[in-house]
Formats: sequence, structure tokens, C-alpha cells
Amino acid sequence: MTAQETVDHKYVYDFAEGNRDLKDLLGGKGANLAEMTNLGLPVPPGFTITTEACQAYLATGREPDGLAGQIEAHLESLERGMGRRLGDPHDPLLVSVRSGAKFSMPGMMETVLNVGLNDRSVVGLAAQAGGNERFAWDSYRRLIQMFGKTVCEVPGEEFEHALDEAKRARGTTSDLDLDADDLRGLVDAYKKIFLKHTGRDFPQEPREQLDLAIRAVFESWNAERAVLYRRQERIPADLGTAVNVVAMVFGNLGPDSGTGVAFTRDPASGAQGIYGDYLANAQGEDVVAGIRNTVPLQDLERLDKRSYDELLDIMARLEGHYRDLCDIEFTIERGKLWMLQTRVGKRTAAAAFVIAGQLVDEGLIDLDEALHRVNGAQLAQLMFPRFQLDHDFEPVARGVGASPGAASGKVVFTSARAVELAAEGEAVILVRRETNPDDLNGMIAAKGILTSRGGKTSHAAVVARGMGKTCVSGADEIDVNVPAKRFTVAGQTVHEGDVVSIDGTTGKVYLGEVPVTPSEVVRYFEGTLDPDEADDALVKAVHRIMTHADAARRLAVRANADTGADAARARRFGAQGIGLCRTEHMFLGDRRELVERLILARTDTERADALAALLPLQRDDFVEIFREMDGLPVTVRLIDPPLHEFLPPLEQLAVDVAVAQERGEDVAKEEALLAAVRRMHEENPMLGLRGVRLGLVIPGLFAMQVRAIAEAAVRVTRDGGSACPEIMVPLVGAVQELETVRAEAEKIIAEVVGDSGVEVLIGTMIEVPRAALTAGQIAEAAQFFSFGTNDLTQMGWGFSRDDVEGAFFWRYLELGIFGISPFESIDRDGVGRLVRIAAEEGRAARPGLKLGVCGEHGGDPESVHFFHSVGLDYVSCSPFRVPVARLEAGRAAVETVGSDSR
Ligand code: PEP
Ligand code: MG
Repeated sequence: MTAQETVDHKYVYDFAEGNRDLKDLLGGKGANLAEMTNLGLPVPPGFTITTEACQAYLATGREPDGLAGQIEAHLESLERGMGRRLGDPHDPLLVSVRSGAKFSMPGMMETVLNVGLNDRSVVGLAAQAGGNERFAWDSYRRLIQMFGKTVCEVPGEEFEHALDEAKRARGTTSDLDLDADDLRGLVDAYKKIFLKHTGRDFPQEPREQLDLAIRAVFESWNAERAVLYRRQERIPADLGTAVNVVAMVFGNLGPDSGTGVAFTRDPASGAQGIYGDYLANAQGEDVVAGIRNTVPLQDLERLDKRSYDELLDIMARLEGHYRDLCDIEFTIERGKLWMLQTRVGKRTAAAAFVIAGQLVDEGLIDLDEALHRVNGAQLAQLMFPRFQLDHDFEPVARGVGASPGAASGKVVFTSARAVELAAEGEAVILVRRETNPDDLNGMIAAKGILTSRGGKTSHAAVVARGMGKTCVSGADEIDVNVPAKRFTVAGQTVHEGDVVSIDGTTGKVYLGEVPVTPSEVVRYFEGTLDPDEADDALVKAVHRIMTHADAARRLAVRANADTGADAARARRFGAQGIGLCRTEHMFLGDRRELVERLILARTDTERADALAALLPLQRDDFVEIFREMDGLPVTVRLIDPPLHEFLPPLEQLAVDVAVAQERGEDVAKEEALLAAVRRMHEENPMLGLRGVRLGLVIPGLFAMQVRAIAEAAVRVTRDGGSACPEIMVPLVGAVQELETVRAEAEKIIAEVVGDSGVEVLIGTMIEVPRAALTAGQIAEAAQFFSFGTNDLTQMGWGFSRDDVEGAFFWRYLELGIFGISPFESIDRDGVGRLVRIAAEEGRAARPGLKLGVCGEHGGDPESVHFFHSVGLDYVSCSPFRVPVARLEAGRAAVETVGSDSR
């Protein structure tokens, strides 16, 4: 903007000029105050300074040109409207200065009340309040306290001490017992504290108070707690806050005054009714601070029937107007009701579904809009078992809520012990500093996983989420000592066999067993709870909304599943096929020995023998999965990871060999293994001999897998089923790689399939940037693409999947380089662009090319919307995320209708 444009730019809006659609500019509070003003509701007059002014201030460290003059003009008009002037010694106007961002950030930013009071106007305020000096001096001391703390960073305790001192001198513990003289004395004490900490007197000039308070609200956007809250809630860091300057009304002018909060329905359960609290003779912050006990809102009917009836009437109007649950703050000043705030109210996940259903029944919204009133994150919350925390359980540590759910069990420190105890029917929690692929069996056996290192995309977190298993990672207060089989936390030692409970949603860790409630919603998805028979309003609402989502969505939803059991679960959850069956786990366990034989083979015959032994085992794996997915497509990915991952680690093997040699044992086989491990060692295995490269280098490996897939499909089809295999080649970067694999595969398929009627598709993953950029060529050889967004992110950003999140993502988040890990939610601008290019160029070369995604992002709500917009055919995600993806795909498909459900 040029200087002139800045001056002309409108930074201040009177309440009468705004409306609820201007949240970007006026923040939620300002937009809704404007909306209520325009509805003719009793809102104290005021104006809003825009988020743009805040952004400009934060960018340059000073108020933008023109702002001061606009504030002056709006203030004058406010003064005229109220018939009072700021700082008037006889009849002063006082204002509150309140933050209000686009998305509600409760309690995270600043508010200053009673601005405009000084040594002279305090006298006028007393006169205005019918000679109530106590009230006037109490308001003044509150201003110095709030202003000192929030605007000038005076330590709050100093004011608290002075207040305690005044109460002690009066021999009381209640503020209400302090009289006007006590409070006058307290004002003097507060001023001294102010002077001591700021080196200046408390500002007497009201306009200076106002300007400093506005600046403090701007700056509170970057207060540490606000920054943390935004990160948690995924609120962009650059929005800024608006500032509302509102004429003060007083709820503390006597028994016919008061203040309260209300909800138009129960935000916890969604039940209809009037919910709220009221506090007579008090200001808003007293309710929030819990200084005195509130009474239920219904009691207001007895105390002030006229205001009560008016309030109920307004609440009904607001609900009808916003077509949603509203929450409200109000004040009654001497029998006159004032609305201080309304917004579409926050609610629990369960209430969100129930209320959406009710609003449809009441004809206020249609089903499309109901779909927008809920989201996948809420559905995911409802699918996890929860702790019943009605008893007194205090967490001993807090880590990252890495995979939601609630789990209690005996602590174990090794995978082997987890498997052993689980086999005896014990619930166990596997505790490690961090997990690695060798912990897989223990993770499968455990009820939950707790680590002291790593973040949301650490090995433990990713694998646990994939399994739908509860996991808390990075609980760094826990000191894990695996050899000693114990961990210490908060001065206590927990030994193997002791019971702990972990909450994978909140990241909290408890000692002992916290009782757990299973999820009704999961029982519904699993088909063991009939929604028509359930007397649970929640299950009925979920059923209704899911049914609509399924009807509305264009994206199909598949699951990532590698076993028959996972495939069966995924199908119950509504998966329309498998989008990724990873085959590597099929080479672990007892089969490791065969893989070793394959790697150590010195002749073609030895290699062929090892592959021949693997073939029937692989075939059986696929038969099981094809049976479970009868009639639905199953994408089987040929083996991907570097082969040395199937061999023992180098260091351990070297030690074993040395020890055995020392003892004079025959170590010929181990030596050969060691040599192979050394030979295959790679500095950057993620960029090394893996994926299609393996298939091109190890003769017969892919051929064996292709044969196993084709034979399994033929067997299932001959048995009366219908197998629809799709063979997927990983890590392709050049069309020639795919062509080579495809030529061999087609020969085998033709030979095996014969006239069985089985059709096998051959396609590729797009997970190397070069593949995305040459998608037009690759499509010539591929019948489908599936985007491997995990690797595409890794290679697109050059971020090691296994290392970076723990290593430095915190700093990137702090700097706002991204608001969320790109491994969690697709980076639309960069990696997403690669997806878009590949989708467009792939389809241009081969119209109708089937497109899907099978990286972790396939189950992430925001990413699902992106994939919908790119025009993919399906997303594939872990079985537990399937309902979430179905819901989000439905939400993406229906037109966006002003949703406020954040
Ligand atoms: C991917 O890279 O996104 C993918 C699905 O493959 P993997 O996670 O097995 O590397
Ligand atoms: Mg990959």
C-alpha cells in the first residue's frame, strides 16, 4: 500500500457497519456484535479496529497511518451517542478494550476494562452511580490492576498482595467488605506499584490509556500462550486480532444488576434447554474467575422476570438467526439487559452430531449443512475409548497425544516381554525411549505404547496410528531405563508389571488403572449396534450424517491393510477396497530365514529355490486378503524397503561373529551374512536400493510376487469369489523402470490367469518427484497411479521421514514456516502441486486413468478436501480412519454453507 492508500484505508468499523460475515476483518466478537446491533438487540455501542490494523502494527511495530484519526472520529461519535465524554470529571464515558480474532481463542489474549477512569473522572463515576463511591473506586483499582498487568507487564502478584493486605487490615477475606476508603487507599497503593515497575505515573489522560490498551491487545496476538493455542488448533499465525472498543455497562451496581453466560442448548450433550449461570452484582470477569458462586440461569426468572423473559426471547431469536447453538454473555445494569457477546458456541464432539441432527429435524438446516456442522476430527474423537476421569486421577507426565484412545496395562520394556504377557491374557503398555521396526510384534501385542522421545510422526506414532492403537510419544519427563526394567517420573519409580494408563488424545500419563468406556460409535461402525434400536441419540445422529456423507461424496475410500484381519475390519468400517497392501511384513518372522537364503544365494538355482519356498506363503497371504475383500479392488504393492532391513543389524552381527569365532565355533553362515550386510550397507538407504530398483536388480523377486498375486486371484475366483488385484510398483521415477517390470509381469499374468476371467491391473506409485513431473510419460505404461505422499513429502522437501520431526520441526513451527507438519497434512503449495501436475498430465495422456492416494495424508481431514479438489478417484487410509475419510469426502463434496463449527 502507498502512504496515501494507508491513510484512506478503513481500519475502524462502527458496530452498525459490520455483519457476521466479516469475521476475517472484524474478528468473531466484532462481527457478531455488529450482527446483533443490526438485529436491533440491546448491544452497548462501540466500534471495532480491524485485524488488518493489527497485522500492520505487528509487521512494522507501529500503528498504521490513519488509524489514530479514525479512532478519534469513532470515539467522538460514540461519545455523542452516549451523551458522555471519555475522562469527563462529572459524567464520564468508560470503555472496554477487548480482543477478538477470527477464530475464538478463549482467554488467550488481553482485555482491559474501565478505560477512561482517572483521579478526576472517578468522582464523576461515583455521582453517575447514584453516589456509590465504593463502586467507583473499585472500578478504578480494577483498571490500574488490569492495565498495569496487561499493558505494562507489572507482575500481577504485587497487586494481589496489596489487595490481601487491604483485606487483612480490615480483618476480612472478602473483597466485598472493603469500603470506599479502603479502595481509595488501595488505588494509592496500586499507583505506587505501577510507578515502581514502570518508572512513570499511571496515565491520567484517557486517550493515552485507550491507545496503550489497543496496542497491548494487538501485541497479545503473539503472547506465548496464544501462539501455543494457535498451533494446537491449527489457526494460522498471520491472521491477527481485531480490537473492540465498547461502552462499559456495569453489572456491579447493586442487587438489580448482574452478569451471566448462557447457551441455547447443552454444549456437552446437545440436549435442548436453557443452560447458563448468573451472578448478581458482579462484573463479567468475576464469573470467569469463579470468585463467587453463580446461580443457575433459571433463578434469574425469580430475581428479574422482565430481563429473564427478554433474554429468553433474544436467545430464541439468535438460535433461529444463526441456525445453531449460540453462547451468550450478558450484563444487567439496574434492570436493563445488555448483550455483550454471542457466537456459535463450542461444543463437544458428541453434541456437534446430536445438535446437527436436531437442527435438521427442526427444519433450521438441511442435511448438506448438517454435514458441515461436524468434522472428521470430532468423529475420530468419538471412535476412541475414553477414560472415565470422574475420580481423582492426576497425570504424572504429559507427552504428545500421538494416537488417540485410552489404554491401561502392565508396563513392559521389551517387545518380547509384551508378546509373552499378552499371550497370557494380560493388558500391557510397551514403554520405550523410542520404538524401531523390531518392536513391531510388541506393539501389536500391547494395548498402548508410551515413549519418552519423538513427536507425532515418530516411528511409534505412525505405526500406532496405523494400527489404531493408543500411543503417547515424547513424554520427556519419563526417564526410561530398559536394562533395569523401570522408569522414573515425578520422583516415583515404575517397575515392569506395574500398571499405568495413557491417554493418546491428551498425551497424559497416569499411574494405576483408570477405568475405560468403550465407544458406542465404533460398535455402530462394526455393525454390532443397530442405529434404529440404539436409544443413544448420538449413534442415531452419526448414522444419519454418515449415510448422507456416503450418498454425497465423489471420492471412494479404501484402506491400507496388509492382513486378512485388517482387511475385514476395514470393510466393516466401510472401505471400498484396499488402496495399499504393503508386502514387506510378509517377509518377517519365520520367513526371515528364507529372505536370508535369497540374499546369500551364490547361484541362480539357490536363489530360485529360496523364491520357490516363498511363493506359496505369499500366495496364501493374498488368498486371505482377496477373500475378505471379495468383489472389491485390492492394490498390492511389490516389496519396497531395502533388503538389509530384513537382516540383523551390522553391529550386533559383528559382535556375535567375533564372540563365536573366539569360542572356535563354526560361523561360516554368520560370516557370509556379515559380509552381505557390509556389502549392502548404504549411507542413505531411503534413497538407495529399494522399491522398483530392487525388482530390477534381484532377479525373480518381483516375478515371484506377481505370480503369487495372480495365482491367489485365480484360486479365489475359481472358488466362486471375485478377486480384483491391482499390482503396484513402488518408487518409480522413470517410465522405463515401470515398462521393464510391466513386461515381465504381463507375461506371468497371462500364463497364470489363462481363461479364469481374472483381470489384473498394473500401475505405479507416484512418490518420487521425478515421477510426478514426468507423469504424462509414466501414464503410458500405468493403468493407475497411487500417490505415495509420505515419500513425496520426504523427497519433495528433502526431509528424512524418520528424523526431522524430532530434530527440528519444533523450530519450523515456531517460526511459522509451516503451521503443521507436512507429513501430517498435505503441503498444498509444494507437494500438493506435484500431485496436481501428475494428476493433470497423467489424465491428459491416458483419459480415465485411475488416481488414488495411499500415504498417511489419505486419512487427514484437510488433505481429503485437497484430494477431492484435485479430482482423485479415491483416498486410502488406515482402517480406523476410514469413517473419518468417508465423512470428510462427503463434506468436501457438498457446497460450503457458512460453517462456524471450528
Ligand atoms: C508413501 O510413501 O506415501 C507410501 C504410502 O509408502 P510407504 O509409506 O510404505 O513408503
Ligand atoms: Mg513410499
